[in-house]
Amino acid sequence: MLSQDTVDAPLDSGEISLKLQWAVSIIAILLLCSCSRSASHSGSNSPSVSKAHGVVVVCIDALREDHVTSDLMPNLSDLEESASFRRAYSNAPWTIPSIASIFTGTYPSYHGLNVEGHLVALQGLEIRTDILTIAEMLAQQGFTTAAFVTHGPLDLKLGFSRGFKIYEEIERVDGHDIVQISERVREFLKHAQQPFFLYLHTFEAHLPDTSGSYQGDLRYLDQELARLFALVKEHAETLIVFSDHGEDISRPERRHGFDLTDDLLHVPLLIGGTGIVPALVNQPVQLVDLKPTIADRVGLDKLSVGPGQGRSLLPFVRGETVPPVPIIAEAPLQGPGWLRTAWMDFALVLRPDNQSRDHWCWKEPKGPKREFIR
Ligand SMILES: [Zn+2]
Repeated sequence: MLSQDTVDAPLDSGEISLKLQWAVSIIAILLLCSCSRSASHSGSNSPSVSKAHGVVVVCIDALREDHVTSDLMPNLSDLEESASFRRAYSNAPWTIPSIASIFTGTYPSYHGLNVEGHLVALQGLEIRTDILTIAEMLAQQGFTTAAFVTHGPLDLKLGFSRGFKIYEEIERVDGHDIVQISERVREFLKHAQQPFFLYLHTFEAHLPDTSGSYQGDLRYLDQELARLFALVKEHAETLIVFSDHGEDISRPERRHGFDLTDDLLHVPLLIGGTGIVPALVNQPVQLVDLKPTIADRVGLDKLSVGPGQGRSLLPFVRGETVPPVPIIAEAPLQGPGWLRTAWMDFALVLRPDNQSRDHWCWKEPKGPKREFIR
């Protein structure tokens, strides 16, 4: 389990200024590298769009990566024919900026929903209209697009429904939504014409508990996922499962959104489907990579994808050697200006105020988990 240092002596403002200048310079260089590599991978496989392709993407909100185990979630952990990314990171520690990053393939400071505080600060905002979302990108290519999402965070007004022909917010019943979502999927797939894109978002792992514990909720969810996956596999060529962020379960009132730690950023990511060989990928990747990955999978060229900071993950799936890129996270609920950049085995967290804990780095790994040092 990742642990953080407690509060220590604060850095003075001059020291912070120098560190910020240094960090911003390094990050700018790394981002340029990231963008050029993204362009070189995107659309590298197929020159034209697949005319018969079903893509299903499932987000399990607030699912910790270390809880996807054969004991707790056997159906998810054993998802057949999948590439499992063991070091996947969300680009924000709470739902709205994270999903906007996924939909647009851009970091929170780009997509327009990197705000201070809670939902009230989002009033009047929406995902930048000059950036194509995944659904818009695929709709332009003739895909039928549909989303069934739990009612709440992915509000229509914020722009999450853009590009979807069908966008339905599902009301939870006694705290549950996965059965209702699966019913909608069954109906959709009965009539779906390929190509299609289906996005699903469940709150079964999110607070509040419905079975008395986080683990209990995951066990229930996993049973229902088995039914959903069986249904999807009959109709789709690509199935992607991930979580938008982790969860701090160290406190009774568990939560997310308030920091840039592995507890909140390390997420499960599985990519499966026709022709994909089961594999474990240990190199760090990030959720902004999903948009270019889907584009690559269905054969879109990079002009159809548009600008972004992600890169296709299919070279990892094929076992190719892929250069590392910086893994970026920002947008905790404390406000804009927080930023974490990770490069291989090192991470740096910067915060804009003049308090302690604004500068962390990873030391060399000691097994699968890491610790912060100052
Ligand atoms: Zn979430």
